[in-house]
Amino acid sequence: MRNESGTPRRIETRLGTPRRIEPVSGTPRRSRGNPQGCPLFLVLLLALLPLRAQPQRTSGLVELTKLDPTIKLDIRYATANNFLGRPVYTEARAFLQRPAADALLRAHQSLRQYGYGLLIHDGYRPWSVTKLFWDATPADKKVFVADPAKGSRHNRGCAVDLTLYDLKTGKPFQMPSEYDEMSERSYPDYPGGTAESRRLRNLLRDAMEHEGFMVYEYEWWHFDYKDWRLYPIADTPFPQ
Ligand SMILES: [Zn+2]
Repeated sequence: MRNESGTPRRIETRLGTPRRIEPVSGTPRRSRGNPQGCPLFLVLLLALLPLRAQPQRTSGLVELTKLDPTIKLDIRYATANNFLGRPVYTEARAFLQRPAADALLRAHQSLRQYGYGLLIHDGYRPWSVTKLFWDATPADKKVFVADPAKGSRHNRGCAVDLTLYDLKTGKPFQMPSEYDEMSERSYPDYPGGTAESRRLRNLLRDAMEHEGFMVYEYEWWHFDYKDWRLYPIADTPFPQ
């Protein structure tokens, strides 16, 4: 489903661990009126530079079904079958940035030999849709949606919601929870459900993590591609 960024428990900081600025010993203090000459000022400036870091790659979204026709779609947000009860996409299509799409294809190919295929629920999502989800979600369920103030990794084309389907029957497998279910059953380490559903959930996770995706700690179906920080948050419609 949808959360991905900005969770209370997993706060991403570009600075990493807080930096402590130690005074340089032996350096004479300067007046506040002349900060340009102050080494301490320069150290502070350098420490703050990462905050201003911008995404380094331009967006290049790839349509997933064009990579392999056996990658299937079930784009719930293009139907009324979602937590809002109405469509928010005009087209049932799914896109990711090129490196993420290639990694997804490799995961699909590794699973295919065992009779499993990837069924995609969502990929790139325009920012305004993230805002819509946030506004429609009650406060106690906000962990399941991304804060639009920070943007979602879906907005960067680097997050995907997906499950497994049976290549023989074309039907999705049962997992420990439904897609977009806002309950603890959705946690990727939820110990309940059937043993078979947990096995399939873990199989999906292993295949995705092997290719550079990370599962979201509250949703077994949501995966972030490792390079998500490098891409800008976007609000453009699906490519034509
Ligand atoms: Zn998601």
